[in-house]
Amino acid sequence: MTSLLDKAAGAPRALTHRELAEVLTWPDTEALYAAAYAVKCREIGRRVSFRGLIEFGNACCKDCYYCGIRKSNGKVRRYRMDADEIVREAEWAHKAGYGSVVLQSGELTGEANASFVEDVLKRIHGFGGDEFGVTISLGEQPEETYRRWREAGAHRYLLRIETSNPQLYAKLHPADHSWERRRDCLRALRRCGYQVGSGVMSGLPGQTADDLASDIEFFASEDLDMIGMGPYIPHADTPLGKDAPWTPELRRERLELGLRMIAATRLYLHDVNIAAATALQALADDGRERGLLAGANVIMPNVTETRYRSDYQLYAGKPCLNENSGLCRGCLERRVGAIGETILWNRRGDSPHWGKR
Ligand code: SAM
Repeated sequence: MTSLLDKAAGAPRALTHRELAEVLTWPDTEALYAAAYAVKCREIGRRVSFRGLIEFGNACCKDCYYCGIRKSNGKVRRYRMDADEIVREAEWAHKAGYGSVVLQSGELTGEANASFVEDVLKRIHGFGGDEFGVTISLGEQPEETYRRWREAGAHRYLLRIETSNPQLYAKLHPADHSWERRRDCLRALRRCGYQVGSGVMSGLPGQTADDLASDIEFFASEDLDMIGMGPYIPHADTPLGKDAPWTPELRRERLELGLRMIAATRLYLHDVNIAAATALQALADDGRERGLLAGANVIMPNVTETRYRSDYQLYAGKPCLNENSGLCRGCLERRVGAIGETILWNRRGDSPHWGKR
């Protein structure tokens, strides 16, 4: 039995589709996580990179059926920080030694948005220079906009494909949302010279182990540098979440599935950056540490000012709503230290896979 985990650990992309599905459903979770963690330690070391996450706005032109900040959710109080606030939070992260930030918001398009972001990026690059990592996660944009933002100082981009199965994607989104357009955006980002990250949600209604194995193969075929994925968690004010059952048992299963995806992705891709998503922490207090022990190597502590945090709720039970950035930093440092991992302070923490290009 164990030989399949050994085979996966021995070389990247060594498994067939069927074998990958078998690894994903491996009965002994501890053996699965341990095999993935060993690959992570070999490829990356017992090290974690931190990215300060700034959720700078929740206005969104998209209407994804699962997402709490979807355009049609009238209960959300919409906000957008001004440029000074965003830059201040990025400076805080820089001084805190995080080495990089992630700027994320709902999806907005148009020239005003493009130049607003461009200005913010130039200001962050002004104090952080090339040594400070800047990841952005701002949805689908024209290639020209991606290029402008790259030239203004962003060098990593996260755009989850959500699921590699176009039929499942169509069930989770309105008809004017296009799986192919999203995939093409990933390719445009590559052409613009970004380190490209994508990912999926696990535990979506109708999703199978076969789909999840295909998701990981999609990460490989798109030659991604970074993977950011997490369990799907229902939000009561969304079409998909409003009647969804949500029991302690389901939460446990969803957490396990999230960890299984991290482990199988590490075992298949070996040298990419993999984030232990905040959604894991929404399911268990120690969810992110468990993500690290299943093969992840990146954590994104929230550095958004406390007063905005409750307005950026993608799913139920978002953690750390009432904490400030300083508390989050101290708490994480303790937690990561307790599992014997070293934090890469003041380092960009680029994907080793990208470094080998
Ligand atoms: N607008 C950008 C985009 O579309 O990539 C970034 C923000 S978007 C809210 C970030 C991610 O949140 C999505 O890609 C999706 O995977 C995740 N998300 C949304 N609703 C979720 C839910 N109910 N459970 C778990 N993750 C969710």
